[in-house]
Amino acid sequence: MKDVTIIGAGVTGSAIARELSRLDLDILVLEKESDVCEGTSKANSGIVHSGYDAKPGTLKAKFNVEGNKLIHELSKTLDFPFKENGSLVLALEEEGRAGIEALLERGKANGVPGLRILEKEELLKMEPGVSKNAVCALYAPSGGIVCPFNMTIAFAENAVDNGVIFEFDTAVKNIIGKTSEDGEVYYSIETTTGIVESKVVINAAGVYSDVFHNMVSEDKIHITPRKGEYLLMDKAAGDLVKSTLFQLPSKLGKGVLVTPTVHGNLMVGPTAESIEDPEDTSTSAEGLGLLFERGALSVESLPRLTITSFAGLRAHEDGGDFIIGEVKDSPGFIDAAGIESPGLTAAPAIGVCVAGLVKNILKASDKKDFISTRKGIPSMALATPEERAALIASDPSYAHVICRCELVTEGEIKNAINRTLGARTVDGIKRRTRAGMGRCQTGFCLARTIPLLAEALGVDEEEITKSGKGSYYIEGKIKDSL
Ligand SMILES: Cc1cc2nc3c(=O)[nH]c(=O)nc-3n(C[C@H](O)[C@H](O)[C@H](O)COP(=O)(O)OP(=O)(O)OC[C@H]3O[C@@H](n4cnc5c(N)ncnc54)[C@H](O)[C@@H]3O)c2cc1C
Repeated sequence: MKDVTIIGAGVTGSAIARELSRLDLDILVLEKESDVCEGTSKANSGIVHSGYDAKPGTLKAKFNVEGNKLIHELSKTLDFPFKENGSLVLALEEEGRAGIEALLERGKANGVPGLRILEKEELLKMEPGVSKNAVCALYAPSGGIVCPFNMTIAFAENAVDNGVIFEFDTAVKNIIGKTSEDGEVYYSIETTTGIVESKVVINAAGVYSDVFHNMVSEDKIHITPRKGEYLLMDKAAGDLVKSTLFQLPSKLGKGVLVTPTVHGNLMVGPTAESIEDPEDTSTSAEGLGLLFERGALSVESLPRLTITSFAGLRAHEDGGDFIIGEVKDSPGFIDAAGIESPGLTAAPAIGVCVAGLVKNILKASDKKDFISTRKGIPSMALATPEERAALIASDPSYAHVICRCELVTEGEIKNAINRTLGARTVDGIKRRTRAGMGRCQTGFCLARTIPLLAEALGVDEEEITKSGKGSYYIEGKIKDSL
C-alpha cells in the first residue's frame, strides 16, 4: 500500500511530489505519457505572472502571488532558467486607462509588489519597441519568464532524488474508494499496468482532472479544454522587447501577449478557443494569422520570423477558480483540479499547500535527510570560456556540437540521458537540453540524437521515439528492404 499516489506528472503533480518528498512517505506518481511535462505544462506562455489579474480572494490570486515569490527562490536552489523581466499591460487607446487603473487596484489587493502605471513617455523610454499607439501601461516588476520544461523537470528530479517513484506510460483507468478491516479509507487505483492501492490520492491530471474527481465524488465538476495557439519566433527577434507585453482586453479583442522567452526567442500568443477533444493541440492558419495581427498591435514592427507554432489546453473549470483540497465525500482524495493559468506560476505554492494537507491527514513526519538542491545540465551555450574549458577537460564530448542552432553538445545530451529521471525520447532530450529547439527544429541534429539515445539506452535506432507511444522516426532500414 502506497502512502500517496499522484495522478499526473505535469508542473502541478511534480511540484506536489517535490514538496511531499520532504516527508517520510512512500510516494508514487502515475503518468500516462512517457515523460514529465507532456501535457499543458509543455505548451504555455512560460510567464511567471506577478498576480494582478486574478480576482482578490480566489485561490488563483493567492497561489499566483505566493508561487511567484517561490519561483524567484527555487530557480536558484533547483537551478532552472528564470528571469525577472517585468511585465507591462498596455492600454492601446485612451478608453483603456480605467481598465489599467482597475488592474492596479486588483494587484494591490492581491499583494503584488511594486506595481505602478507608466505614462507613454516613460513606457517608450523603457521599451522603445512598444507601439506608439500605447497610451499608458501597468508595470509589474515582479513578473518573469521561466523555462516551463526545466522547472517541471527540476521539481520531478529533486522529488526522485528524495525517494519519489515516477511510473510513466501508466494511465489511470478507474479509482474506487475502499475501507480496510480497521476502518481506514484507502483507494484502489486501476491502471493500464495493474492495480495500485494508496492511502491518499492526489488528482493533478490537468484537463482530465474532472474525470478523476467525478469517479469518487457526488459533487461533480466540469472541465472545458480551452485551446491556446502560439507563434514562436527566431532568436533574431528576441531583442524586440525586454518585458512581457500584455494587452488590455478592448473592442479589438481579448488581447495576446508578446514576450521574450527565457532562452531569447520571441513568442506571440495565445488564442482562446473552447474545444471538446482534450487531446486536440493542433494549430490553424486562422489562429496563427490572428496572433500575428493582434501581436502587431503591441509593438511597432513585428517581424515575420516564426520558426514553429504550437498549442496548449487550459483546464477551465466551470467555477472559474482552481479547485484545491480534500474532496468532502472522499477522505484522503485531494484535488489539484482546474489548474489553468496562472497554474505554472502557482505550482510551487500549490505544492506547499497540498503537502501540508497530506502531512496532516497521514500525520507524517519530516524526512531528516531531505535534499533541497538540484543541479541542472550545464549549458555550453551559456558557459564562460573558462567553464567551457573545464567541462571539456572533464569530458571531451562537451566539445562535440550536436545541435548547431542552440549550441548543444554530446556531453549535454549524455548528461540528459544519464541523470536522475533521464530522457528516454527525442522530445525528452529537446526539453532538457534545447537540442532541436532552434531555427532548424531538429532538421540537422535529429540524425545525431537518435543514435546517441539508442546507444545510451542500449536499443536499436528503430525503437527510438519522438515522445513514446509508437511515435517512431524510423520505419526500417532501406538496406534491409532490398
Ligand atoms: C495557452 C496557455 C497559456 C498558459 N500560460 C501560462 C503562463 O504564462 N503562466 C502560468 O502561470 N500559467 C500558464 N498557463 C497555465 C499552465 O500551463 C497550467 O496551469 C499548468 O501547466 C497545468 O499543469 P498541470 O500539471 O496541472 O497539468 P498538465 O501539465 O496537463 O499535467 C497533467 C498530467 O496528467 C497526466 N494525465 C492525465 N490523465 C491521466 C491518466 N489517466 N493517467 C495518468 N496520467 C494522466 C497528463 O498526461 C499530464 O501529464 C497556460 C496554459 C495554457 C493552456
